[in-house]
Amino acid sequence: MSFYETMTRLEQLPYGTLWSRYTAEDVKRALRAEQVDEEGLMALLSPAAEPYLEEMAQKAHRLTRTHFGHVMQLFTPMYLADFCVNHCTYCSFSSMYDFPRKKLTLEEVAREAETIAATGLRHILILTGESRRDSPAGYVRDCVNVLRRYFSSVSIEVNPLSTAEYAELREAGVDGLTLYQEVYHQETYRALHVKGPKRVYRNRLDAPERGCQAGFRSINIGALLGMYEWRQEALATALHARYLQDKYPECEIGLSTPRFRPYLGEFNPASDVTDRALVQIILAYRLFLPRSGISLSTREPAALRDHLVQLGITKMSAGVSTEVGGHSLEGGTPQFEISDNRSVAEMAEMLRSQGLQPVFKDWDILSEPLGLR
Ligand code: SF4
Repeated sequence: MSFYETMTRLEQLPYGTLWSRYTAEDVKRALRAEQVDEEGLMALLSPAAEPYLEEMAQKAHRLTRTHFGHVMQLFTPMYLADFCVNHCTYCSFSSMYDFPRKKLTLEEVAREAETIAATGLRHILILTGESRRDSPAGYVRDCVNVLRRYFSSVSIEVNPLSTAEYAELREAGVDGLTLYQEVYHQETYRALHVKGPKRVYRNRLDAPERGCQAGFRSINIGALLGMYEWRQEALATALHARYLQDKYPECEIGLSTPRFRPYLGEFNPASDVTDRALVQIILAYRLFLPRSGISLSTREPAALRDHLVQLGITKMSAGVSTEVGGHSLEGGTPQFEISDNRSVAEMAEMLRSQGLQPVFKDWDILSEPLGLR
């Protein structure tokens, strides 16, 4: 069984009338529940929950401080290569666009790592466009071998790989996998992914589970909000996370809430995800999954990020460039426009002013096994 069976069931729900079935009583029941179930999650995502955002926020804040303390983990993405064989309608790296593509040499990876490490960050997320020819698992492994000299935690966001390839990268020192489904709604997924291997919906949907099986310490999933009706996408994301958490309790399952941002092309998203809707999604995630990390990226404006740090977020990116080599080289093409341009130092200062401790490094991979019996 994979999450695909759950997706098949979810797609048969009567969404035309589903959300309007939930009442204030259902929302209050979910707010009182020690453990929110699927029905409670739907109530928290429904229009009936909109007048209860303040109560949801208070509970989300309490749960976050109980399980995570007064800390915020900071990390930054590092783009290794922008070659891509897919045509996704919402991304500058799509194979449809003609611009000078880049792939970092190992020397450039080291220079980029040095520049990022000088900011104090020790957690990094490396990204590539999706091309098995230009940035295969072996290239990612070679880059990881360089990066392990500078960072205590290296996560990857690359094309979906096999369990064996994930295991090989874990052996090389990768501890986390980020892989967004982008769109859970199957018909929309097919429409937005026009060309390339990314069209194979199930290969992507099952990849986080392969990452769990390969033994990554953490797996981060998410929907690109705006691509389809947000309540339905948030429901699928949260249930996907719960599915992985129940089946692989040894793995930390986290969620991200990326909203669509401008890019090279002119695609307009189908669903308007307002700031209030984003808040409702984050609060519903926190109440449904009290122990899951929730990441917030620089896609969001600074003022909103400052507000959201108290409402369930546990990880934030800082000092971000979405260009290949954007920290130490010139002239790349950004994957999308970011909204919050603050440096790592400025983000740390903001967190401290809110009574939170910025964490640049919260753990280290052991180079030798412990040998415990
Ligand atoms: S979203 Fe990923 S797979 Fe799609 S075009 Fe961009 S880099 Fe390529």
